[in-house]
Amino acid sequence: MTIGVFDLFRVGLGPSSSHTVGPMRAASDFVSRLDASAIARVGVDLYGSLAATGRGHGTFLAVLLGLEGCRPDRILPDEVEARAAALHRSGRLRLGGATEVVFGEDDIVLHPLTLLPGHSNGMRFRAEDASGALLDEAIYYSVGGGFILRDGEAATDAEDVAVPFPFETAAELLAHCAREQLGIADVMLHNEVASRDEATVRAGILDIVDVMEASVRSGAAREGMLPGGLNVPRRAPQWHARLVAQDPAGTDPSLWQEWVNFVALAVNEENASGGRIVTAPTNGAAGIVPAVLHYATHFAPAGRSRAEIAVPYFLTAAAIGVLYKARASISGAEVGCQGEVGSASSMAAAGLAEVLGGTPRQVENAAEIAMEHNLGLTCDPIGGLVQIPCIERNAIAAAKAINAAKMALWGDGSHKVSLDEVILTMWETGRDMSSKYKETSLGGLAVSVVEC
Ligand code: SF4
Repeated sequence: MTIGVFDLFRVGLGPSSSHTVGPMRAASDFVSRLDASAIARVGVDLYGSLAATGRGHGTFLAVLLGLEGCRPDRILPDEVEARAAALHRSGRLRLGGATEVVFGEDDIVLHPLTLLPGHSNGMRFRAEDASGALLDEAIYYSVGGGFILRDGEAATDAEDVAVPFPFETAAELLAHCAREQLGIADVMLHNEVASRDEATVRAGILDIVDVMEASVRSGAAREGMLPGGLNVPRRAPQWHARLVAQDPAGTDPSLWQEWVNFVALAVNEENASGGRIVTAPTNGAAGIVPAVLHYATHFAPAGRSRAEIAVPYFLTAAAIGVLYKARASISGAEVGCQGEVGSASSMAAAGLAEVLGGTPRQVENAAEIAMEHNLGLTCDPIGGLVQIPCIERNAIAAAKAINAAKMALWGDGSHKVSLDEVILTMWETGRDMSSKYKETSLGGLAVSVVEC
């Protein structure tokens, strides 16, 4: 499968790409292949991490909405709330948006201690007719970032496109750059243009920026506690008010860190409350790329338009995301938070280094530094909610990304540990990591902190 910028940056719903977006897409895909009018009953089994933390991550509702044919990139948060209330009231699902069947939470069976062979986020869907005969049954995996796989199929959601500069490693990517005398963003743009014209690519990237900025505005406007019962207060509205009072133009260099922190918090609070965000490359890590973009557009050397910064930023970040997807994982359930927040930090660092004029080797160095100092990062969300440590962690990782880009730009691109070596190390560390620290809420902060 060929991964591109619009696979890694997708409009989705909070709070989790692997536990909300992926399950909704899987359920929707399952129903779309059936004649919904022949179905009288559906059953769902959730395995591993989906069963362990699915309740806090909104997996149940995501599956139900997916069975109704909803898509995470199209349904709006208000519609989610309306359909949730209707389902609760009626106890009936509209399969594929049309055929009504009785469905309750008992029809979703949890298997938290059972891992299916393909991935720790496994789902089994069954459809029966009125006589109880099995019409279809399928296993899906939610493999991180909203990507899904149907068991037995090579790829369920990304096409295989012949691109001019294929790469799965940083060494291959850098070789293309050296041979063609192109920057990393240019290489990625040539590959994107294999599937859609350049104007569409540029417009699509600006659409992503629009959704990210809308997430920031929404996060800044919503007061009160985050949902889920942890009693975590939203901080973005107060921080925004304070920043605007002190720095109305939003460009005071002494406050760049506070602005970056605010953007990361606003996006992640929006995600935690089931709002509309862009996976970057996952929901849990969705605040890092927009926070670093904010730094690039407001605090980096002036004289360039938003588009002149955003397009190379996202193309470069996506090129680095391709490497993590190809050679490691962006799934917290598979490799811990290093795969989510670590990958996002690395992608953002590379994007920033690119727009600040870095050479391909400096960009690769920035990505490497950012991941090197996220290695071993575990996933231990308290209460199975994407709130603590996730929200603050995005702000910290954005700062790491900015520092990584600055460090790389003060060097000449030569460095001891290559990006490919650090990606391999992340993958091996993730394989060795106890499952307690892989989105099960069975270890770390999730068990050390008393929920109240
Ligand atoms: S700890 Fe990291 S990987 Fe785990 S849910 Fe939070 S952001 Fe995602």
